[in-house]
Amino acid sequence: MSLSAPPSETGDHRLVLIGAPASGKGSQAKRLAKKLGIRHLSTGAVIRDHMRRKTELGERCRDTMNEARLVPDEIVMEVVASEIGNHHGGYVLDGFPRTLQQAEMLDDWLDQRVSALTAVISLEVPKEDLEQRVLSRVVCLDCGYPFRLGERVTSVDQACPECGGQLGQRADDNIGMFHQRYGEFEAVTVPVIDYYRRQGLLQTVDGGQLPDEVFTEIENLLDLQPSRS
Ligand code: AMP
Repeated sequence: MSLSAPPSETGDHRLVLIGAPASGKGSQAKRLAKKLGIRHLSTGAVIRDHMRRKTELGERCRDTMNEARLVPDEIVMEVVASEIGNHHGGYVLDGFPRTLQQAEMLDDWLDQRVSALTAVISLEVPKEDLEQRVLSRVVCLDCGYPFRLGERVTSVDQACPECGGQLGQRADDNIGMFHQRYGEFEAVTVPVIDYYRRQGLLQTVDGGQLPDEVFTEIENLLDLQPSRS
């Protein structure tokens, strides 16, 4: 089992952001990565990119992804190892680990690298709010940045405020698939949150606040200088 460790002398944070679908993991992880100069790894975004490029890995995941089910643990661990295996700085994992087996695989992998997570942040949002968010979520098809209609964007026809790319809706952002993904979150990901709580790594954040407020809470609990906005 990996023990918690402080950020390295160079300030590297090795973080996991965990939460239900549409809890805001993606946008908070991107912000955090930018602020800390660390790598952001969204396993979902990497797999979607493989699917777009029709790679062998993308094809192995296609049916599972289209049905909004979880991709097998070994495949997701392969994605993580290939994305951050040669990366020696800090990172924030978004959407991984999602099962107990993934958490244990990650621990073994980190042990082999004589490395450990520095914190796990759980974003807590009531289910009713998540439903609304799913319906109003649009993402940039180029950079993957998630937005809520009515906040920085008002229509999918607009250009992405981050990179100028094309906006669109995720195929799994509909109520039926949300219930499927939420059920999976409760059954297999909530035990992961408990696992990290037992390891003393878990920090919980009220993810129901406005995005800036959520970010400030994360900055505070990681002891970072607050951003001036
Ligand atoms: P996300 O973008 O994090 O909502 O993930 C979208 C989809 O990618 C999920 O519904 C799964 O099919 C797949 N996926 C992403 N991360 C994982 C993971 N850690 N374990 C299994 N499947 C995953």
